[in-house]
Amino acid sequence: MSNQVLKVTEEELKRMEKYYGNNMVASPPGSRFRVKTDSAVITAYNSGKVLFQGKDAAIEAAKWKTGEVKQLKITDSNGSPYTPKESLFFHSHIGSDEAGTGDYFGPITVAAVFIEESKIPLLKKLGIRDSKTLTDSAIKRLAKKIIEAEIPYASLVLPNEKYNKLQQSGWSQGKMKALMHHHAIEYVKKKITNQQYDGIIIDQFCQPDVYKRYLRSENLTLQEKTFFVTKAESKSIAVAAASLLARTKFVDEMDRLSRVVGLELPKGAGQQVDKTIARFIQIYGREKLTTCAKIHFANTQKADKYL
Ligand code: MG
Repeated sequence: MSNQVLKVTEEELKRMEKYYGNNMVASPPGSRFRVKTDSAVITAYNSGKVLFQGKDAAIEAAKWKTGEVKQLKITDSNGSPYTPKESLFFHSHIGSDEAGTGDYFGPITVAAVFIEESKIPLLKKLGIRDSKTLTDSAIKRLAKKIIEAEIPYASLVLPNEKYNKLQQSGWSQGKMKALMHHHAIEYVKKKITNQQYDGIIIDQFCQPDVYKRYLRSENLTLQEKTFFVTKAESKSIAVAAASLLARTKFVDEMDRLSRVVGLELPKGAGQQVDKTIARFIQIYGREKLTTCAKIHFANTQKADKYL
C-alpha cells in the first residue's frame, strides 16, 4: 500500500476525468472527483493535486507520470460497438494475433495472451512490442521472457495439409483465421477462470461483421467484450505479446519443416520461394507440397519457370 501525489494541469485533469469516467464515485467535500478502480482510489482537486491510494496506487500514478496516457487521444468508441475505449489498453485484457498468413511455406499460427493490469509495466520493461519491428532472434528471446513471466497464453498451429483441405473445400483464409483466433481465446479464457478482464482485443484482419459470419457458419458466437483494432500490436501489450508468440511458433515450425524436407524453406512469397518450390518438386514431386505449403498461392505456378 502506498500513496502517491501528482500535480497536473487543468487539461490533464479533464483527460483523467474522461479516462476514468466509468469508475467515478461520489467525491468527498472539497475535491473535484473521486475514482475507484479494483485496486486504487484516486482523488483529484481543482488545484491540480491528485492523490493515488491503495494497492496499485503507484501503477495508476505511473500512467500519468510517464505521459503515456497524455499522448493518447482519449476517445469513447466512435459509434462502433467493436472499437474499445483507449483505457482498455491499460487494464487487464486478452489479445490475439496471427503469423504465417502471407508465407507460402509453413502453417498459419495464432496466439492469444492474457495480460493482467499489474503486469503491464513489467512487460513494457522487458521490451515487449510489435513483432514486425524485430528480428526473428529478438522475437524468440522476448517470447521466452513472456513464457518465463508465467503469462497465460495459448498458441495454435494450422498444419499445411489441413489448411489445403479447408481451402479446397471453400474456406477462405479469413475464415480459418477467425476460427483460430476464436479457439485460442477460448483456451486462454479456460486458463484464467478466476481472473477478471475488461475486454478481448483481436488484431483486426476483416470487418467485425464478417468475422461474426465466419463464426456463425460453424455455430459459434463472438465472445463477450470482444473488440477489433487495426495495428493493435502497437497499442495493446497483450496483442504485442501474442504477435511475438505467434511469430515464434511460426519460425519454429518453419525450422522443423526445413529439417524434415532437408531444404531451407524461405519465408514470405518472393522469388526465392519460387526457386525453392522448383527444387522441392524435383526431389519430392508436386503432390508432396501439400505437406508444407499453401498450394493455392500463385507461387505454385510461378515455380514452373525454374523447372
Ligand atoms: Mg496481425
